[in-house]
Amino acid sequence: MSSSPTDFSGGARAHSLHKASPAADAAPAREVDQLRAILGNMREGVIALDLDERILEMNAGAFNLLGPAASRHSGGALVGAPIEQVIRNAALQRFVKRALRERSPIEETIVIDLEVVQATDQERLLQAYASPLNDAEGSWVGMLVVLHDVTRLHQLENVRRDFVANVSHELKTPITSIKGFVETLMDGAVENPEDARRFLSIISRQADRLNAIFEDLLSLSRIEQENERGGIGLEERSVSDVVDEALQSCLFQAREKHISLEKDCPESLKAFINPNLLEQAIVNLVDNAIKFSESGQRVVVKACVIGDSLDVQVIDRGKGIDRVHLPRVFERFYRVDKARNRREGGTGLGLAIVKHIAQAHGGHASVKSELGGGSTFSIHLPQATVGSVDARRPRVGAWSQGFGNRGSGGL
Ligand code: ADP
Repeated sequence: MSSSPTDFSGGARAHSLHKASPAADAAPAREVDQLRAILGNMREGVIALDLDERILEMNAGAFNLLGPAASRHSGGALVGAPIEQVIRNAALQRFVKRALRERSPIEETIVIDLEVVQATDQERLLQAYASPLNDAEGSWVGMLVVLHDVTRLHQLENVRRDFVANVSHELKTPITSIKGFVETLMDGAVENPEDARRFLSIISRQADRLNAIFEDLLSLSRIEQENERGGIGLEERSVSDVVDEALQSCLFQAREKHISLEKDCPESLKAFINPNLLEQAIVNLVDNAIKFSESGQRVVVKACVIGDSLDVQVIDRGKGIDRVHLPRVFERFYRVDKARNRREGGTGLGLAIVKHIAQAHGGHASVKSELGGGSTFSIHLPQATVGSVDARRPRVGAWSQGFGNRGSGGL
């Protein structure tokens, strides 16, 4: 028998099935084959052990899940081999001993070291269930251990826990501030019109902040829900029109900061998109680009077909982002400079929303940035969304339309 995991349902294992269940002697060979095929194709790991902790059966799923913790015996040596010789994992061995001792169904989470260099894949968490194994006459002959991979579930649980902690933290700051100033007003500051006005304007700003956090959280959950319910609605629309709408929404902030907004997008470019969501993503990126640029600088929104994807890029020459932060900027509530961003009214959710919108279109978002050298945030939408062949033709000169006090030349 080869060491390939799918081969572990070979002849020697059929023999072991017969031993575990004498009734199987009478079963036609086809049924035994079916049983072996079912075990061999299960993603869950299944290990049958006798009362001396020797292996009666072990399917390919168990080998896959246990990874380096399971040694690849030949089929003949595997059946009848003591479990501790085949599986080198102290927790699983303890679990098996406990199951045999207690002789009743038990379950436990077991950590398997994968010895893989990638940081995210170093451990696998298995939920192990053990139950007594009886033969056809009802005599206790061993234990059946079933293993489920729960690594992803645990990761999701951690993400959820972090998210709840982050939301609580984000909400706490404005609420504490509102409460503090209301109490100060009630304690007498309300009598002084100048103080009262100042405190009320702080309260109003903090309330706006709370509102912005709620709006962003609701946006995120709406996109996720729509995506889960069979996807966001896509329609063939002009990308140029969507960019125009987004730039219009940012005109006020841009003018205030004397930033010029430019568009570089073929009029003919059409794509299957959700126009409202794509507009929201572009607004978030342009809003950031304005926030993190110096007065007088330019922000360009460029849409084009690159290779297989429709790319919408928002390019600024602002403060840029240190490379250590780049892998995390799309995470919820991640900020490079917390204090500054709160001052500027950021919720820390803008880029997470962009990422989710790109993913809801079947694409992804990315960033290139250099500290002091500006940033390019991109939304990559897969080829299937590109509706215009013209958009692939090289353009003669750069198509550009200015908004606000647009300057000449490129960035
Ligand atoms: P916020 O609402 O705080 O801006 P985002 O999710 O939009 O949150 O952005 C996350 C962080 O990424 C920001 O706090 C900021 O530090 C950084 N960032 C985003 N866009 C830019 C940009 N164009 N230039 C420099 N830093 C940026």
